[in-house]
Amino acid sequence: LVRIRGVNKHFGTTQVLHDVDLDVRRGEVVAVIGPSGSGKSTLCRCVNRLETITSGTIEVGGVPVPAEGRGLSNLRAEAGMVFQSFNLFAHLTALQNIALAPVKVRGVSKAEARERGLRLLARVGLADKADSHPAMLSGGQQQRVAIARALAMEPSVLLCDEPTSALDPEMIQEVLDVLAELAAEGMTMIVVTHEMGFARKVADRVVFMDGGRILTSAPPIDFFADPGHERAGDFLAKVL
Ligand code: ATP
Ligand code: MG
Repeated sequence: LVRIRGVNKHFGTTQVLHDVDLDVRRGEVVAVIGPSGSGKSTLCRCVNRLETITSGTIEVGGVPVPAEGRGLSNLRAEAGMVFQSFNLFAHLTALQNIALAPVKVRGVSKAEARERGLRLLARVGLADKADSHPAMLSGGQQQRVAIARALAMEPSVLLCDEPTSALDPEMIQEVLDVLAELAAEGMTMIVVTHEMGFARKVADRVVFMDGGRILTSAPPIDFFADPGHERAGDFLAKVL
């Protein structure tokens, strides 16, 4: 579903992605882990073209990541993004946050978008928060609204960049539970995370990045038994 080939990315003169290859099959959950600055966020952002790549190719659903225009809004709908910092619209209610883009980008009717938004809120356990503004919601609730907002576009892949890193410990699990449910329902996901329990239990594959390179890519059971690379072993020793 997602095909990344020979991707290099520079910021000015610094190269932050080195010859990255990654394939994500439909229904697969890939956990991306690695030290700070290793390029995890940049890789995610390149997939839905919040960043441009210097060279190489990225395809989502067989379609090359477009430079601009209509193709770009379609890509952003296909590859939904969930950010560390939620990025909800503060002046809109939870339901309005979710219903906005389907109307504007997917051409869904307002009534249908509202209907679907309410269903999605129920799915993330927030049926009673439709009319709340983000400021009235806890961090965990805001992040669940952000997940519902991404799902409202019916994406074929969900990109999650440290979805629980900004949350207080007691709220981390409620967000991870929602992601685990989505995984169980067959959603394709790339999840950048420091939650090793989630990587171990929910991911089909763990990708370890360091210095802008993918050093290992393996099923969690194999990765946690033997990280396969000294740098990955050092990293695990620090985080586990
Ligand atoms: P973290 O775990 O801290 O989130 P990360 O693995 O997500 O780290 P990236 O955010 O992808 O790492 O950053 C990779 C490298 O690219 C870092 O060296 C960072 O300083 C650099 N970088 C990221 N964004 C920019 C930017 N907009 N301009 C210049 N350099 C950047
Ligand atoms: Mg990051």
